Amino acid sequence: MDKIKMTVPLVEMDGDEMTRILWKMIKDELILPFVDLKTEYYDLGLPKRDETGDQITIDAALACKKYGVGVKCATITPNAQRMTEYKLHQMWKSPNGTLRSILDGTVFRAPITIPSIHPVVKNWEKPITIARHAYGDVYKSVELRTDCPGTAKLVFDGEDGSHKEVVIQEFKGPGVVQGMHNTDKSIRSFAHACFQYATDTRQDLWFATKDTISKTYDARFREIFDEVYPEYKARFEELGITYFYTLIDDAVARVIRSKGGFIWACKNYDGDVMSDMVSTAFGSLAMMTSVLVSPDGNYEYEAAHGTVTRHYYRYLQGEETSTNPMATIFAWSGALRQRGLKDGLKDLAGFADALEAACFDTLAEGIATKDLVNLMEGVTPMPVGSARFIAAIRERLEKRLA
Ligand code: NAP
Ligand code: MG
Repeated sequence: MDKIKMTVPLVEMDGDEMTRILWKMIKDELILPFVDLKTEYYDLGLPKRDETGDQITIDAALACKKYGVGVKCATITPNAQRMTEYKLHQMWKSPNGTLRSILDGTVFRAPITIPSIHPVVKNWEKPITIARHAYGDVYKSVELRTDCPGTAKLVFDGEDGSHKEVVIQEFKGPGVVQGMHNTDKSIRSFAHACFQYATDTRQDLWFATKDTISKTYDARFREIFDEVYPEYKARFEELGITYFYTLIDDAVARVIRSKGGFIWACKNYDGDVMSDMVSTAFGSLAMMTSVLVSPDGNYEYEAAHGTVTRHYYRYLQGEETSTNPMATIFAWSGALRQRGLKDGLKDLAGFADALEAACFDTLAEGIATKDLVNLMEGVTPMPVGSARFIAAIRERLEKRLA
């Protein structure tokens, strides 16, 4: 069989620990035998990031901008314990943070759903995609605590000489204060990424804030979405999809009663909290995909989970692990499909479909990693290790491609 050709390279970002092991297995078993793979390879494994002073992460992000599509393995975000474990020169920043700030993107997370795993919420028939605004608010805030009475104020000194001041609170005793911000530019990028992704995936877009209470801050989010929507309105109507704005508490209630099948755009904190709720309700973190989409149409695909450290330590001791490779496989299929769409390569997009179908075939027969076994209903589950799971997918992929 001739291998499927590619024209433009995919930006391949390798990572750490158990997911690095899975990465190689996926490439060797599920990609390289079928695709004449063209990638520009960046090793974002922690040792290489340390060796290059993290320049490799910046280079990889710039490559994503240049080529438009990347696929990334999970990576370690260093903490104090990793400093000693890897003898690091510096506590390097999260690679995902670097990618997000260079690509100016929004993260979309969607569960991979299968018939034998029922969402906890009975009426959810289709996946719910969370679009999390990944900049500012409480994640870039300053805080202080006071032990004595006094006045807390919000002060702004404009470069044009303007001065604004409001009293936050006249404290009669001890208390806490928080100052946070966002920028029109970032909110506008977020809006574009959401409207763009909704048209790309033909799904309705929901957005919610608390603008009845936060009449300036949250209201700014709603206003910017309202300003940006007209640019996409005609396309939305053509595709038969809708943009729907409501209050966050109303949104939560509606999401629970919904059938799913839409994108839920969330402010940073809402997205953090709601993505954990949605992924857990759909089944397993190991079945959650993640894609970073920039407003100018660059895509970076990855699994939502981390490097699965606990499994890696067991793997290092020679144990056979049953780590679920689904989200990482879907990161590859998502990236290859996007490359196929961008370059007009039907075969490549078709391969991505076949790869995903082969994964579904495997799970439909009950062959699954241990994390899924207890969640499955209506099939007799057969728990297998990662290597056997991937081999089973390969058999079914070969059948589909034959
Ligand atoms: P994690 O790697 O997602 O794993 C947490 C637990 O979830 C695992 O111990 C495992 O539970 C289960 N799990 C996650 N993915 C699984 C899979 N594919 N198959 C089976 N089980 C899976 O999170 P973490 O342990 O908090 O973080 C580990 C490292 O990953 C950290 O260094 C962190 O910085 C990094 N991280 C990276 C990213 C990223 O690159 N996007 C995201 C998050 C975390 P059991 O052990 O109970 O089986
Ligand atoms: Mg969280």
